[in-house]
Amino acid sequence: MSDALLHKRFPDLTDSLPYVRLGTSPTPIRRLDVGTGVPLWCKDDGRYGDGGWGGNKVRKLEWLLPEAHRRGARTIFTVGGTGTNWGLATALYGREQGIETVLALVDQPMDDHVRVQLRRLENSGATVHFTHTKRRTLLTAPWLYLRHMRGRKRPYYLPVGGSSPIGALGYVEGALELAEQIAAGAMPEPSHIVTAVGSGGTAAGLALGLRLAGLSTRVVGVVVNDALPLDAPHIVRLAGRAERLLRSRGARFEPTGLRHDDLTITTDWLGPGYGHPTPAAHEAQTLAAQDGLRLETVYTAKALAAALHLDTADFFGAGPVLFLNTYGPR
Ligand SMILES: *Cc1c(COP(=O)(O)O)cnc(C)c1O
Repeated sequence: MSDALLHKRFPDLTDSLPYVRLGTSPTPIRRLDVGTGVPLWCKDDGRYGDGGWGGNKVRKLEWLLPEAHRRGARTIFTVGGTGTNWGLATALYGREQGIETVLALVDQPMDDHVRVQLRRLENSGATVHFTHTKRRTLLTAPWLYLRHMRGRKRPYYLPVGGSSPIGALGYVEGALELAEQIAAGAMPEPSHIVTAVGSGGTAAGLALGLRLAGLSTRVVGVVVNDALPLDAPHIVRLAGRAERLLRSRGARFEPTGLRHDDLTITTDWLGPGYGHPTPAAHEAQTLAAQDGLRLETVYTAKALAAALHLDTADFFGAGPVLFLNTYGPR
């Protein structure tokens, strides 16, 4: 029996949309001391994931890995940067579930964090192809894909970050979990939830899940990637595809009518580009460390910087603000 909240909410999905739990829920919620005016809270999904890596990608894999089995695939083929948390999580949890991982990796700014990540990838059992640039990745992907056919079984192709409609369900589930925690008194209903946007699946899933949960919390997506179109219409389109997927698998509910002005997407914290640290990110990282929270400067420190500056001048009477920690090093 699955203990997914999505299955509890829509029992018709139990067989049509398989699920495997890979972490311990609910993840802890606590008040942070670093806040400037509005009370700042943190839901620590860095703790999520019982295998060798944690964070937001684990929640996506809870739906993606069973879907791979459902399609009869033995291999997942996907793409990422050289420091890819997504590729690493897929390799580690895929291996546990009997699925091989093949990665095509694009260069990103090299630093100690990326070097450590590459070493972890080498030990993860994934097959890694260094395709260096986005253009070369697009050109070679079809060949790599064919090369990793297993007999007549095709790899299951997944986009960057696992942000397919099925991957986005990880944070529909995450939002339902948050709603239960709020109902149980873990925190007051937040006016905003702030998360990094690298490929959009987390923000899209949250936006849809919060609606399904009946919360009016607004998603603030902090774009950290300049290599993909990640504006509000794109995020809402992905949420819409996830919503249609749920319906096509048998869930019955009123259309959420999610619109792109229902969420705030900002590129103000991106700096020079994906993987390039900014002074604001370094500062947020230092503040978070004082509060016992380990962030990195690619995603989460930029998102926290945005959360710290999301002041009440813009959102009069707003709060509390919830920062979603998506980084799960082990
Ligand atoms: C991938 C990632 C994100 C971004 O999530 P998306 O769903 O790709 O937008 C945020 N934080 C960390 C640590 C990540 O690895």
